[in-house]
Amino acid sequence: MEKERHSGGCGCGSVRYETIGNPTRAGVCHCRYCQTRTGSAFGISVYFEENQVSVLNGELTEYEFKNSSGRKFKNRFCRKCGTTVFWEVEIRKGLIGVAGGTFDPPTFWFEAGFEVFCRSKAPFIETTIADKKETTDYYEPIIPDNEALTG
Ligand SMILES: [Zn+2]
Ligand SMILES: [Zn+2]
Repeated sequence: MEKERHSGGCGCGSVRYETIGNPTRAGVCHCRYCQTRTGSAFGISVYFEENQVSVLNGELTEYEFKNSSGRKFKNRFCRKCGTTVFWEVEIRKGLIGVAGGTFDPPTFWFEAGFEVFCRSKAPFIETTIADKKETTDYYEPIIPDNEALTG
């Protein structure tokens, strides 16, 4: 069977990508990094193996930081409009996180199987995802976050 292909991109249309096949894992994250990055209530991570994702067009800029667990986190966003399209996290080496909302319609074609960092979830958000965690299984804070990112 031919593997399913999905395309997507940033808000201004200059970054375009394609994915092939199903993600390794996909879910919703209510952590403060995702909330501030998106300016919204949560992030949607759709993780693929590197070779399943191709950038077809556009220029991406990177922003790398260390999260409170001391692990590297790299966001990749459109140089022109600022939409974060991809990220790479040290805990998931070899995988590329695709921002779930950037897929072309049918945007939410993947199954979201987990919900993490529910401790900072917006009170008006309720999902149908069964696997809910207050933080994550591998959360080990060692670096204090600034006040805006605490939670
Ligand atoms: Zn753009
Ligand atoms: Zn998050």
